[in-house]
Amino acid sequence: MSKVRLSNVSKVYEDDILAVEGLDLTVEDGEFVVVVGPSGCGKSTTLRMVAGLETVSHGEISIGETVVNDVRPQDRNIAMVFQSYALYPHMSVRENMSFGLRLAGDDADEIQRRVDDAAEMLEISELLDDYPKQLSGGQQQRVALGRAIVRDPDVFLMDEPLSNLDAKLRTQMRTEIQRIQESLGVTTIYVTHDQTEAMTMADRIVILNDGKLQQVAPPEECYDEPNNEFVAGFIGSPSMNFFDVTVTRSNRGAHFESPAGEFTLGIDVPPGEYTFGVRPEDLTAEREGGYIDTIVDVVEPVGSDNYLYLKTTRSTSEVIARVESDFRPEVGGEIELGFDIEDIHLFDADGERMPVTELQMTDSA
Ligand code: ADP
Repeated sequence: MSKVRLSNVSKVYEDDILAVEGLDLTVEDGEFVVVVGPSGCGKSTTLRMVAGLETVSHGEISIGETVVNDVRPQDRNIAMVFQSYALYPHMSVRENMSFGLRLAGDDADEIQRRVDDAAEMLEISELLDDYPKQLSGGQQQRVALGRAIVRDPDVFLMDEPLSNLDAKLRTQMRTEIQRIQESLGVTTIYVTHDQTEAMTMADRIVILNDGKLQQVAPPEECYDEPNNEFVAGFIGSPSMNFFDVTVTRSNRGAHFESPAGEFTLGIDVPPGEYTFGVRPEDLTAEREGGYIDTIVDVVEPVGSDNYLYLKTTRSTSEVIARVESDFRPEVGGEIELGFDIEDIHLFDADGERMPVTELQMTDSA
């Protein structure tokens, strides 16, 4: 069993810098969890506490059934992969991959078998006699992964492992890491600032902001039902559009007044002030359940879609819409952007998500 559990974990650095605050998180045996959030939110600190590279200020971390707060990093049976590959330049690929095992005094035949197996899995068997300087960035990162795999750890800890690779290679390695993690079934905690990596790779995403946990959920749930405004804005690209709205009751549901326009939706919301959110991909160039009036500022074709950068007619608030590539409106022209009730998000004054319940309209009237 190699479940990883953090119970009310905090990290206070010198000068009272609170990097992680009261974090509760259980990573299940064999699970792939991606910790994501903006720079400085406490991702690396969290990972480094699990690795034993930072002390835990408050709370408890356990791996399997063992509380590891006072266990040395080398005794935790974890393997780390970093953004920098940290390969030894004077050692061949095989020597780099086997170094840890040789240091631990493992049997030479066993070491060879493990290195060969890992190299095959990573498709670097032909490179075993090469030296790091002969390898591309992507190949070096495979060697770094191989070095982690041969250790046969209880837990993989990965800190932005793909950040040094170009975009195409990064996409390819994402899939590869997922495949390897799945076939080895090793509990994995993966840190990134890139929400796309989190969305595409994770069984569950852990979202941090300012040292505090915002949400732990599968990717689709973070996208469809973000706990709060922060998660809503962080997950998804381009980011969700937000407007301040004032809601009053109307006989057809809730009437919204906002800098982006006025509309009535058949939903049940208590009157008050809210933040209204709708994703760029949920806006269409047709009136739907609700709509806002906008003026087209920039049309940016990205191949499969067009990104429209618009301003609301009322208030010149910025709006982004992601529409089909054959819809290419005139710059400066006015368009109505519609959205479905099921695609809207509402957040209260504290930024917490409000449930949106559709009213059952009867035709009897
Ligand atoms: P992330 O990985 O999300 O970018 P970090 O965990 O590196 O964030 O940092 C979280 C916070 O802790 C930041 O405010 C950072 O400046 C601070 N911090 C990180 N390492 C140290 C350190 N060794 N000493 C003091 N403050 C640190």
